[in-house]
Amino acid sequence: MALDVGVIGVGMIGQEHIRRLDGGPGGSRVVAVADADAERASAVAGRLPGAKALSGGEELIASDAVDAVVVTSWGPTHEGYVLAAIAAGKPVFCEKPLATTQEATRRIVDAEAAAGRRLVQVGFNRRYDPAHRALKHGVDSGVIGAPLLVHCAHRNASVPPHYTRDMSIADTAIHEIDELRWLFDQEITAVQVFTPRKSGRGGDLQDPLLVLFEMADGVLVDVEVSVNVHYGYEIRCEVSGETGTVQLADPAPVHIRREGAVAALVPADWRERFALSYDIELREWVDTVAAARPAEGPSAWDGHVAQVVSDAALRSLHDGGRVAIELPARPGLYAPTETP
Ligand code: NAP
Repeated sequence: MALDVGVIGVGMIGQEHIRRLDGGPGGSRVVAVADADAERASAVAGRLPGAKALSGGEELIASDAVDAVVVTSWGPTHEGYVLAAIAAGKPVFCEKPLATTQEATRRIVDAEAAAGRRLVQVGFNRRYDPAHRALKHGVDSGVIGAPLLVHCAHRNASVPPHYTRDMSIADTAIHEIDELRWLFDQEITAVQVFTPRKSGRGGDLQDPLLVLFEMADGVLVDVEVSVNVHYGYEIRCEVSGETGTVQLADPAPVHIRREGAVAALVPADWRERFALSYDIELREWVDTVAAARPAEGPSAWDGHVAQVVSDAALRSLHDGGRVAIELPARPGLYAPTETP
């Protein structure tokens, strides 16, 4: 069955997702787009055979032509659109972060729980990345014994001018927050953010950051967040266990040997590094929604917990020190399933 999708926010990732959703293998079409920049919305709609540019996200959600909604606008706008989609009873895929405060993500959880069915999926795409799935298999299989320590790095070549210090946590490290909960099937219980010597290339930004997470079973995780490394985009993760380690391999597809040196090409950005994860993520979402099954991927609850942890990390960044994390009870709607 064809799934007719409306996309709100047609900037970088919005256009990436549209490329996958319009005429994609799961039988989806993009029938409507909306953006704060009306000219951009018209230009994007003009390149799609069956799409209209609508005047706003609210009109798109209310449109009878739209079966399901994708929210890829700027983070602070997510809450309103996700709540409107829930109220309209339409499945909604929302890019991370689900919203920008834990009060906002809680309102989404409460609205969905009141609706009584899972309509929301959050764009935590690492759960769909084949390399991260292999990493999780390495942990779950027990081949390295009990995990003890984890070393991660999240490095961006550069960030846009509107990027703020808090976004290093709320927009960037939020991927690691979800990854760790998913990788170990347990919660983060405390966080502390350290501010090392500042890079001269980051302008006013406090860059890099070192974030230390404590998992419920005592595993300690250090995450380097660097957003001005210039050489490319790199995601690292190594889990050190009692009897061995498992780590993400070098993502370069080839190594070049010449003139006495070995070179491995580094992905330019997230679009290149995680292309396959977005393919799988959206294909699975379309299949689930088209089959009228409840959303199966990262839930509004996952978005909420990530936000609670992100807010705690921001408190540590602003005020210093270790911040303990207490989570509220998980509503029954979000009981764990066998999904990715
Ligand atoms: P972007 O290029 O700035 O695109 C956002 C678009 O939304 C822009 O066209 C913007 O218009 C528009 N917009 C802003 N406010 C709006 C509103 N109220 N209603 C409708 N459209 C609105 O940003 P992006 O990099 O694509 O990021 C978008 C979201 O995706 C963010 O939440 C980001 O964290 C997330 N993201 C996720 C991943 C991932 O790996 N999962 C990767 C990248 C981004 P103006 O330019 O006129 O403001």
